[in-house]
Amino acid sequence: MSEEHLAVRRIKDGTVIDHIDHGEALRVLSALKVTGHDGNLVTIAMNVSSSKLNRKDVIKVENRFLFANETNKIALIAPNATVNIIKNFKVIEKRKVHLPDALEDVFSCPNPTCISNSDEPLKPILKVINRNPPKLQCKYCMKISNPEELL
Ligand SMILES: [Zn+2]
Repeated sequence: MSEEHLAVRRIKDGTVIDHIDHGEALRVLSALKVTGHDGNLVTIAMNVSSSKLNRKDVIKVENRFLFANETNKIALIAPNATVNIIKNFKVIEKRKVHLPDALEDVFSCPNPTCISNSDEPLKPILKVINRNPPKLQCKYCMKISNPEELL
């Protein structure tokens, strides 16, 4: 077994997010709103040796199955990530992240005077207007931003 596999122990049921660009694991957790407050074990490994990327981060969330509409939110931060759904120690589903057409309630609009940053009960909605390189546009104030401005 390689060093990579030993770094984080296997889980019985849950979600493993692999091949996250190194150093991005905490931002991925934040975007997924995985806080650990539900009491389930969350394991984070950062800067794991990997042949595919030089270094990568890995996140394991036990007893929670993250759906594609949730994990696709991380495509901006970790475009190479793979998501493995584990049931009874077996990978039952493996998928790549895919940037959706709009990101709802993931990142705030970078415009401080935007109505979505006020006390109004509005969820920030950023439309993906270009994929490569990624460009987003706020649904409310129409400000166009790139991923660095959101993080
Ligand atoms: Zn805005």
